[in-house]
Amino acid sequence: MSELNLILLGPPGAGKGTQAERLVADFDVPYYATGDILRAAVKEESELGTEAKEYMDRGDLVPDDVICRVVVERIDRPEARDGFVLDGFPRTIPQAEELATAIERLGRHLTAVLLIAAPDEEVIRRLSGRRVCKENGHVYHLDFDPPKNEGFCDQDGSPLIQRDDDKEETVKHRLDVFHDQTKPLVDFYEKQGLLRRFDGTRAPDEVNGHIRATLATLRLEEEL
Ligand SMILES: [Zn+2]
Repeated sequence: MSELNLILLGPPGAGKGTQAERLVADFDVPYYATGDILRAAVKEESELGTEAKEYMDRGDLVPDDVICRVVVERIDRPEARDGFVLDGFPRTIPQAEELATAIERLGRHLTAVLLIAAPDEEVIRRLSGRRVCKENGHVYHLDFDPPKNEGFCDQDGSPLIQRDDDKEETVKHRLDVFHDQTKPLVDFYEKQGLLRRFDGTRAPDEVNGHIRATLATLRLEEEL
């Protein structure tokens, strides 16, 4: 079987996390969210982790080449031999170029960049309707999954609140940041013929089906 080296792109609320979980379960490849593996490297006190921590402690951004090395160190582990799902990296063109060079050095290449897309209005509707209970973090949605008693959790009766991250203004800002960052990457990967788009407004099962069909085709093409 050919490798499945994937990058995931998509706005918040388009179901990227769900699709990542499905990919990991379907293909038994590790999922690397950049924030998580950066924190893990810091915790392991590896040479790279210690280097990253120095920037973080100073409140500076961890430079591209350090993040890239942390990512590549993971990709080079036996667990990622058959592939990986990368999320949150690259965010910029220089990072994408750096990653491409590093992967090539390992004698590998990207299989595809999966963009789980959803229109802004849909993302705003999905996220701004979300409510969580104060006590245990049970999640509801005003339109899709409302509680029986308005404003209170069905399971423990505690009040439901809207997280700051889910407030409409915050969601709009997150979307602006996403579009600014992602547009150049989408163009970059489109030019390389690596980009595949999926409709994140469809049911998760359907999106998963489309992704699997696309990957099956890509693998067939690679094996020819
Ligand atoms: Zn609750």
